[in-house]
Amino acid sequence: MKVLVAVKRVIDANVKVRVKADGTGVETTNVKMSMNPFDEIGIEEAIRLKEAGKATEVIALSAGVQQCQETLRTALAMGADRGILIQTDAELQPLAVAKLFKAVVEKEQPQLVILGKQAIDDDCNQTGQMLSTLLGWAQGTFASKLEPNGDSLTVTREVDGGLETVALKMPAVITTDLRLNEPRYASLPNIMKAKKKPIETLTPDELGVDVSPRLKTLKVVEPPPRKSGVRVSSVAELVDKLRNEAKVI
Ligand code: AMP
Repeated sequence: MKVLVAVKRVIDANVKVRVKADGTGVETTNVKMSMNPFDEIGIEEAIRLKEAGKATEVIALSAGVQQCQETLRTALAMGADRGILIQTDAELQPLAVAKLFKAVVEKEQPQLVILGKQAIDDDCNQTGQMLSTLLGWAQGTFASKLEPNGDSLTVTREVDGGLETVALKMPAVITTDLRLNEPRYASLPNIMKAKKKPIETLTPDELGVDVSPRLKTLKVVEPPPRKSGVRVSSVAELVDKLRNEAKVI
């Protein structure tokens, strides 16, 4: 079983995001970038499937600027076998990414495609669902457990109020939830080895995909600042404020 895993380059989860002064987006110059955390979980799951003898090859796939190579190298250092970069400076929205990934799926013929449930920069939660629809494949979203058995796949999904278990016919698209696994850190020897692993570069034109945006961002604003708190001197004062000022009791 060949497994294709999407890895997106996003602003590191620990960076405080700043909105550009002109409100057209967020500042990305001189900002630390990393692999989308849900995609680290995707790579980890694919490597575990390979270690368990259930996957034969793990391919990491990224779309975006040339620096996405670094994200692919991280995936290779974690244990992926090879990488594919669809290189473009164009702004990529989920539908365009899904169309690009469909073209790669048709070329590579994987049995399983793993994506994150959402990218932490755009919070769209769309690409996996769009890809499975374009391919006409089964989808298991928000997966917290995966068990491949032959040509089917049992997926436990995190839903409101509990866990849902579904059986999917392969080939299938999976999106990862936080509790699927805890991703490993790449060891130094594996970081060195990853430098020799191949990364193929493609372009949207080569794949015959028009990536023109369908949505226009009108403006981006910072969330309103939180009001500072007040210190109360007694429980009675706290109750009085909650009752008469906040009106919550
Ligand atoms: P989104 O629908 O934008 O929230 O993204 C969901 C998932 O799709 C991410 O966690 C990635 O696995 C994948 N994805 C979206 N955009 C890209 C991209 N440009 N490169 C690689 N993977 C992507």
